[in-house]
Amino acid sequence: MGSVREYFSNIANGLGSTVKGMGVTLRHFTSEPPITVQYPRETKPIPPTYRGLHILEQDKCIDCHLCAKACPVDCIEIEATHHGRTLDWHKFTIDYKKCIFCEFCIPPCPVDCIHMTSEFELATDDPNGMVEDLLTWTGLRPEDQAKLEGKAGGKGAGAAEAKPAAPAGGGDVRSRVAAMLAKKKAEKEG
Ligand code: SF4
Ligand code: SF4
Repeated sequence: MGSVREYFSNIANGLGSTVKGMGVTLRHFTSEPPITVQYPRETKPIPPTYRGLHILEQDKCIDCHLCAKACPVDCIEIEATHHGRTLDWHKFTIDYKKCIFCEFCIPPCPVDCIHMTSEFELATDDPNGMVEDLLTWTGLRPEDQAKLEGKAGGKGAGAAEAKPAAPAGGGDVRSRVAAMLAKKKAEKEG
């Protein structure tokens, strides 16, 4: 007889616990805003300290390679030809297949021209698309070329020829990073 009473007592306890638990669930369900969002249609604010994709202020960069030397996984590649202080840019890439977002490349920069942003969307089905060129132009800018030609006595032969500008918006990430760079510049100027 005792075991029958215990049997029904256990059932009653189980039902009581279930009702209590469902009450807690219902209370949270109705009184708290949803924690999840419908990404990618909705996103939550990213903290300003988040270490995401890099941006480069190419105007300021002096091609010193200190950022590349500080990188523990050797994922920064920089190529430029120096004409005195004028730079003929070829590439400044970061291989995001290797990057561990450690931020070691930022502090060594003597002119504070490389930064990390809160941009994080890198998903792609093309691994080759994960090497991002941070340059907003390649070769010499027309004004730099004119300056160099002027120094060469107007002959133009000694100066490197301007190369076509890098194609704008070569990929989604590149477009977003370029837009961030433009915004950052506008904020500084405005
Ligand atoms: S964040 Fe780290 S791994 Fe990525 S490029 Fe900078 S130093 Fe290299
Ligand atoms: S450390 Fe700064 S200035 Fe030197 S190459 Fe890197 S980004 Fe350019």
